[in-house]
Amino acid sequence: MKKLLAMLLALAMILSLAACGGSGSSAKTEPTEAPVEAEPEAEPTEAPVEAEPEAEPEAEPEAEAAGYTTVEEGKLIMSTNAAFPPYEMVADGEGAYNGFEGIDVEIAVALADKLGLELVIDDMDFDSALVAVQNGKSDMVLAGLTYNEERDKVMDFSTSYATGQQVVIVPDGSDIETMDDLANDKMIGVQRGTTGEMYAADTPENGGYGEDHVLAYDNGALAVQAMLNGQVDAVIIDNGPAQEYVKANAGLHLLDGDWVLENYCLAVDEGNTQLLEALNSALEEMIADGTVQSIIDKYIAAE
Ligand code: GLN
Repeated sequence: MKKLLAMLLALAMILSLAACGGSGSSAKTEPTEAPVEAEPEAEPTEAPVEAEPEAEPEAEPEAEAAGYTTVEEGKLIMSTNAAFPPYEMVADGEGAYNGFEGIDVEIAVALADKLGLELVIDDMDFDSALVAVQNGKSDMVLAGLTYNEERDKVMDFSTSYATGQQVVIVPDGSDIETMDDLANDKMIGVQRGTTGEMYAADTPENGGYGEDHVLAYDNGALAVQAMLNGQVDAVIIDNGPAQEYVKANAGLHLLDGDWVLENYCLAVDEGNTQLLEALNSALEEMIADGTVQSIIDKYIAAE
C-alpha cells in the first residue's frame, strides 16, 4: 500500500520533471530541493542575458545516473540520536562504525554500501534528527523512528524494517502497577519529541495523562536517571531501550501490558523520492535476504 503510494509519487515526480524539463522552468515543483535537476544539455553554452543563479551548480553525472543526489556528494548522512540502545549507541569497540554501533547503524552501513556511498553518522537529540533531514542537513533519519501520520506530512518514510512498542518502566516497589495507575497524579518522564511523549502528554480523553504530568528529557537515559533520582514516577519509552535500561540499572521493572505495535522506518525529506526509492530497494533486498533480521538478532537475543 505504502509501496504503491511511493511508486505513484515517484511516477508523479518523473512526470512532473518530464513536463518541466523542456520549458526550462521548474517553478511548479515544490520548494524542496528536487533531487534530480541537472540539465546538462539545457542551455546552448553562452546563455544570453538571464543570469539565473538558481540552477544548482553541483549537477554531477553519477548522481544523475543514480537518479538521486545527497547532501554531500558521495556521502550518505544519517541523523540520529545515539542514546537509543540497541538501535544506536556510542561505542568504540570492535565492530563499531566511526564510534557508533547498533541495529540502525549496521543497517545504515549496509545501505550505504549498497548505494556506493560513504556513511556519515550525525549524532544529535532525537527531535533535532528529525529536523535535520527536513532542513537538508542530513539525507535520512534512522533512529528507531516510528511511522505516524503527523510525521508523514513532513517526511517520506521507507518500508518498515522493525517494530517497537511504548512500554512503562517503574522502580521496584512503586505503587504503579498498571497503566491506569499512571493517571493517579503521577509524573512521567519521556524523551523529547518521541511517540512516547505524544502518548503520555495527550489528553486523558485520548488515553494520555495530560502534558502537566509529563517531563521531557533530551534522551531516554536522562529520563531514566530522573526516575532513579525520584524526579519522575515512571518512564514511557520504546521497549528496546527500556529492556536495556532495566538490565543496566538494578531496581527497575517494566509494567505488563498489551502495547500497541509501532513500525520503525527510515525517513527522508518530504519529496526526496529518488533517494527514498534507492534506499527502499536496498532496504527491501536486505529484508528479503534475511540481513535485517540477522542484524536485529545480533542485538536482541530471543529471551
Ligand atoms: N520510536 C520513538 C519515536 O519514533 C522513539 C525513537 C527514539 O527515541 N529514537 O518517536
